[in-house]
Amino acid sequence: MKAILVHQPGGPEAMTLSDCPVPQPSPDQALVKIAYSGVNFIDIYFRIGLYKAEAPYGLGMEAAGTVEAVGANVKDLKPGDRVAYAMNRGSYAEYAVVPAWQLVKIPEKLGFDQAAAAILQGMTAHYLTHSTWPLKQHETCLVHAAAGGAGRLIVQMAKMRGARVIGTTSTEAKAEVAREAGCDEVILYTEKAFDEEVKRLTNGRGVDVVYDSVGKSAFEQSLNSLRPRGLMVTFGNASGAVPAIEPLLLNNKGSLFLTRPTLAHHAATREELSWRAGDVLGWVASGALKLHIEKTYPMSEAAQAQIDLAGRKTIGKLLLDPAK
Ligand code: NDP
Repeated sequence: MKAILVHQPGGPEAMTLSDCPVPQPSPDQALVKIAYSGVNFIDIYFRIGLYKAEAPYGLGMEAAGTVEAVGANVKDLKPGDRVAYAMNRGSYAEYAVVPAWQLVKIPEKLGFDQAAAAILQGMTAHYLTHSTWPLKQHETCLVHAAAGGAGRLIVQMAKMRGARVIGTTSTEAKAEVAREAGCDEVILYTEKAFDEEVKRLTNGRGVDVVYDSVGKSAFEQSLNSLRPRGLMVTFGNASGAVPAIEPLLLNNKGSLFLTRPTLAHHAATREELSWRAGDVLGWVASGALKLHIEKTYPMSEAAQAQIDLAGRKTIGKLLLDPAK
C-alpha cells in the first residue's frame, strides 16, 4: 500500500510517499481501508519533531473508511462497516490498523468525507465547550483562528450552548466565515491588539474563557482578555509552543486558571468517545453542525496540504484522498 513516512523530522520534504506492506490487525484491532484522511495541525507538529515519534513514522491522526478485517477479539465490528476514528497516528495511508474501541460507526446519512472532516476537530470542539469549560448561557468566550478547522466548530458549539462568542481571524475574508459560523464579534488580530478590543467589547470585564489554539504569539494577550478567575485554555501551537511562565503571572492578571488539554485525554474511554463522536456525527447528520471542506488533496500532495495549512491560507477542513 501507499503511505506517507517521515524518516527524519523536518520540512515538508521530509514526507515521503512510500510502498509499505498492508498492516495486519492484532486481536483487538481492525484493519480499515481509508477513504479520506483528515489533515490537522498536529500532523505538522509530528513532521517537524515538536511532537516525538520513533522514525520512520507515519503521519495523520484521523480517517474514515471501511472495515476490511477484524482481530479475533473484536465482536461488534465486521468487514464492510463504515467507520471513523481520531487520535491514532498513521492515517496518511491506504490502510491502517486501529484499536477497535476507537472506531465509531458512521451514520448512514453521512459520507466518508464528512465523517473524516468532523471526527477529530469536532470532538476537540466538544470537549473544550462541554468539559474543559462547560459553557453556560450568557457566558462569553474568545475563540482564536475562528475560521479554521477546529475554530469554526468551537464557535458553532459555543453558540449551541448559548454563549456570546468573540472570534479572531487574520483577514476580513476569514472574519466573514467566522461570522457565518456564529461569531457575535470578530477581531482582526493581525491589525488590532485583541486584548484591548476584548476589553472594549466586554465593557472592561473580559471573557470567561479563552480557547487559544494559536499559542506563542497570542498567549499573553489571551491572558489579558480574561475576567478575574477566568480560564485560559491553551490547546494548540499554530504560531509556536508557549514558553515557560511564572505562576505568579496568573495571580497578577486576576487569579486566572490555566490548562493545556488534549483530545487524547478527553476520548480515552469507549463511553466518553461514544458520547462525543455520537454528538458530533449526529449534529453533522442533522445539519446542526455545518462543515466546510475547503479542499481534498491527493495523498501525493500531502506536503502541499501541510504547506497551505501552516501558511494560514486555509478556511475549514483539508482532506487527503489516499487512492490518488
Ligand atoms: P486551523 O485550520 O485552525 O489552522 C491554523 C490557523 O491558526 C490558521 O489558519 C491561522 O488562522 C491561525 N494562526 C495564527 N497564527 C498562526 C501562525 N503563526 N502560523 C499558522 N497559523 C496561524 O488548524 P487546525 O484546526 O488543524 O488546528 C488548530 C489548532 O488546534 C492547532 O494549534 C492544533 O494543534 C490545535 N488542536 C489541538 C487539539 C487538542 O486536543 N489539544 C486537537 C485539535 C487541534 P488565522 O489566519 O485566522 O490567524
